[in-house]
Amino acid sequence: MALSRIDQTAVAGKRVFIRADFNVPQEDDGRISDDRRIRLTLPTIESVLKRGGSVILASHLGRPEGKGHEAAFSMAPIAARLRELSPQLAGLRLVGTRCTDAEAADAARALKAGEVLLLENLRFEKGEKKGDAALAAQLETIADVYCNDAFGASHRTDASMHALPLAFRAAGKPTVTGLLLDREIRFLQGVLETPERPFVAIIGGAKVSDKLAALRNLIGRVDSILVGGAMAYTFLKAQGVAVGRSRVQDDMLAQALEILQSAAGSRTRLELPTDHVCAAELKEGVATGIAVGPIAADMMGLDIGPATAAHYAQVVAAARTIIWNGPLGAFEWKPFDAGTSSVAAAVIRATKSGATSVAGGGDTAAAVEACGHAAGFSHISTGGGASLEMLEGKSFECLEAIDRHIEPSYS
Ligand code: AMP
Repeated sequence: MALSRIDQTAVAGKRVFIRADFNVPQEDDGRISDDRRIRLTLPTIESVLKRGGSVILASHLGRPEGKGHEAAFSMAPIAARLRELSPQLAGLRLVGTRCTDAEAADAARALKAGEVLLLENLRFEKGEKKGDAALAAQLETIADVYCNDAFGASHRTDASMHALPLAFRAAGKPTVTGLLLDREIRFLQGVLETPERPFVAIIGGAKVSDKLAALRNLIGRVDSILVGGAMAYTFLKAQGVAVGRSRVQDDMLAQALEILQSAAGSRTRLELPTDHVCAAELKEGVATGIAVGPIAADMMGLDIGPATAAHYAQVVAAARTIIWNGPLGAFEWKPFDAGTSSVAAAVIRATKSGATSVAGGGDTAAAVEACGHAAGFSHISTGGGASLEMLEGKSFECLEAIDRHIEPSYS
């Protein structure tokens, strides 16, 4: 049975509590540097408004520690951006100084069809991180429908993610997903459950330790794993290859070997870089060289080399399903973005020829965007930790609190 979705739910005359993920990166002066999470929530909000409902938006922002209102973590910049982004949200009001104060509750009760409120940062409440049922019980009273559209927080059991839909359910009120959450699950779970083959995983990033669980879950499921980023050097060192001063996790060598052995005994071909873009230090404009095989003692590998990039691009070109988590080099510094960029270009060509391509959020999304390739992916996740946990095959408790529909939610 599929998760119930907001656009399949009657909302006319109802107040819909939308738990969004507006936890966006901000500059020191509060300016929002990437509003993708906000923009991608608009279809869910508009779906309610155009069908005669009203909306109460709530999210966390940053990491306040549950000590009440703090101006530095106010949702005011989010309110301003929402008003700018959609004419239907021009009249949006940010109410109260806490999501639990009387002003917020009164405004919610007085909502009329087509109106939108934004509550203050959920993490101003101590109970939010603790998954507190009392906080959930309080918030449940102000709305008629619960809608979870916060994929980026869906691996968590914060009160607004888990206890709150349970409270709505206990009160006999619908609990549904938003359109963004639905799309994220459809892509991330869908490719793992029913991939078209060849199925290729591109796994990079800084640390093997962060990706161990995902690698274990992918071995035996995918046809190829293409490894890049600093984590490749832990694998290479475990195999006895000289890696110079490359970033290595020495306490992960045994686990890296175990991963290589388990891949060798499975359907999955795990590939490591065979050449590297090297430099003596990590900074822009530094002199670089290409190392084929071993890396000199005074150098570090900072990107996959051109031969590896060309080979990975070839593997990607034949793929029908591609998932990507973690950059293949230190992409924030030119020219160490080249490997990530050329493999991303190959993913886009494959996608144009009909492959499904899914990139994780966080650093992966940033890397693909920095290379100018984001638009050509089938899906780029809005959740870093959540998308990685999906690749790890974990089930999310918060989704267990969402209603099910007999008919499929999507076709
Ligand atoms: P992660 O958060 O695990 O996905 O790792 C992303 C970070 O890994 C980025 O900040 C990259 O700059 C860094 N990174 C990727 N490849 C390398 C490398 N070869 N050496 C050093 N840092 C790297």
